[in-house]
Amino acid sequence: MPFDYGANPYRGCEHGCIYCYARERHAELGLSPGLDFESRLFDKPHAAALLHKTFSRAGYKPGIIALGTATDCYQPIERALKITRAMLEVLLAWHHPVRIITKATLILRDLELLRELAASHLLVVHFSLITLDDELSRRLEPRAAGPGPRLRAMERLAGAGVPVGVMLAPVIPILTDGDIETVLGAARHAGASFAEMGLLRLSGAVHGLFAQWLAEHAPDSARRCLARVAETAGSSMAQSLQGQGPYAHMLQQRFALARRRLGFGVSPDLRLDLFRPPGSGQQLELFG
Ligand code: SF4
Repeated sequence: MPFDYGANPYRGCEHGCIYCYARERHAELGLSPGLDFESRLFDKPHAAALLHKTFSRAGYKPGIIALGTATDCYQPIERALKITRAMLEVLLAWHHPVRIITKATLILRDLELLRELAASHLLVVHFSLITLDDELSRRLEPRAAGPGPRLRAMERLAGAGVPVGVMLAPVIPILTDGDIETVLGAARHAGASFAEMGLLRLSGAVHGLFAQWLAEHAPDSARRCLARVAETAGSSMAQSLQGQGPYAHMLQQRFALARRRLGFGVSPDLRLDLFRPPGSGQQLELFG
């Protein structure tokens, strides 16, 4: 997913996905990457004002902002705090492009705002979905929306003219690697126009948490799953997400075949040339 700046209104995430790499950042704060990550949340109440200040600086060059690169910007706390919404209002006022990454149906609350951004080619939504199995999803991503509601949210977004794609990430060896074609098919049916895939990578504390989870929820697959993760890990983040070795290559081939068969395109480009201070477009029209 191409972007220039990452922005995250929250630190920690109530969705509690066991594989989440952002858990590491809580550990860096001296908090537990387990429960604390899911329950001790930090919000950035001035995020929208900071965005406005940044855009106002002389010499600021617009680039693609990605909202939710580390934690979900539409996790439940957003319902009350509305920080993501306030950021989107600033982005729209400045005609600044943005990509949103989420698993949450709360995004539909802001449909009108999203529709306006999309109408000016300023928005793409990347919806994360790794399996259609409700029970597995509930165990892996305990407080995120289930696969059905996510697909319906994608459908509503696409129906409103908002470009939406499916992020099949992370593919979890043995547990969800059989789901590539079905997830892509369901997402395409729901209106996703592009698809992305990434393999599971486990580092630091997340490795231990995931291994514990496997021992409890999928003991028969644990050893093979961890062996596959180790075998596919690359030396850089980008390499790791792609994966290396024959197993990763086989998954990439299946993904590419299904993507082509289902007629997925690429993630649309966003416009950078519309960036301007709020209100300046109206003035031009008055004197035009
Ligand atoms: S929704 Fe995203 S940020 Fe939140 S726990 Fe899951 S993977 Fe992490």
